[in-house]
Amino acid sequence: MKTKKNILILGVFTALFGLAASTKEFLGCISLPIDGLFYLAGTNSHHVLAFFLDINNFFIIAGFLIVVFSLMFFPPEGPLNASLKFEKWNTWKKRRAYAHLLICSLIMVHIVLFEAGITKFPSICPLSFAELGNVGVFGPAAAFWAAMFLLVFVFGRGLCAWACVYTPVQERSAEILKAAGMDPNRKKFKRRYIIYLLTVLFWFAFIFNIIKHFENLNFSPNNGLGLISMWVFIAGLLTIFPITVFLTHYFGNRFFCKYLCPIGGTMAIYNRFGLLRVKINNSKCVDCSKCEKNCQMGVEISRHVRDSGASIKDSSCIACGDCVDSCPTKALKLGFGS
Ligand code: SF4
Ligand code: SF4
Ligand code: SF4
Repeated sequence: MKTKKNILILGVFTALFGLAASTKEFLGCISLPIDGLFYLAGTNSHHVLAFFLDINNFFIIAGFLIVVFSLMFFPPEGPLNASLKFEKWNTWKKRRAYAHLLICSLIMVHIVLFEAGITKFPSICPLSFAELGNVGVFGPAAAFWAAMFLLVFVFGRGLCAWACVYTPVQERSAEILKAAGMDPNRKKFKRRYIIYLLTVLFWFAFIFNIIKHFENLNFSPNNGLGLISMWVFIAGLLTIFPITVFLTHYFGNRFFCKYLCPIGGTMAIYNRFGLLRVKINNSKCVDCSKCEKNCQMGVEISRHVRDSGASIKDSSCIACGDCVDSCPTKALKLGFGS
């Protein structure tokens, strides 16, 4: 217990140290007691401690990560934290958490290599593809997203559950609300047509602009937006957290994926042809609806079961596996094929 508390304190201290270092003056003040020694050596604290001033953001990031992981793996006791406890998570949820960790780590490695000048490979984020494609410029991001759209025929919308960086933020937001007794899966807000309207608008504008720049279309492996800094990546995920909790509460779990994201909206159109899907063993179903209550995308699973479907073929299913984990009779299974 003491070790867990100390890890948490270490995380808070590291983050606060980074914040203090970013103010520069504070670091100068805390070093005042030893400043005399620096003067003797013909220098001063600002000069000697400049190293910390330069890497203050990394202290904030490291501190934040220590706090998040210590809360995730060693959450304080109490009923409020039940759904935030990693060891209580179901199999597929744990697997997704590992996948998200891997994706975020790969992005961070890419950023570090880019910042160190070791690689010039540009960002492959959707913005890099959409913003540049709009002016007729294509690079690795365009190739990456073309491949992703094709992979829907294999993995369905699995990309959404397993690889999108916004997914862990949305999942943790829903858990916080659930832990506080406000289950966002119960929200009745359902306007599925919004995502198709936005997706059509997105692709209409995209194609219109490509036609406009048709004469000057350009593809090069170096084309693409530059990478954001590590600080912006972590701070971006952090700042989007409270907004996500707020909107998840009002518009339901994964509101962004259900109503706003043109990437998800595009995949939703032909998601039903994907090979990765939830398979149903109708004879084992006892009609308890637990699967449906736990579906983060609000898929009407009981309808698929009732219709005697061999598998869930639904535009919204992201192959997350939560329904599989919540089925008490093992009537559902996530896998390839029909
Ligand atoms: S719908 Fe968009 S935001 Fe949601 S998981 Fe898929 S790609 Fe990410
Ligand atoms: S139907 Fe199952 S696998 Fe599909 S999104 Fe819902 S919980 Fe996830
Ligand atoms: S959780 Fe399992 S048994 Fe219950 S309704 Fe869903 S498929 Fe049927």
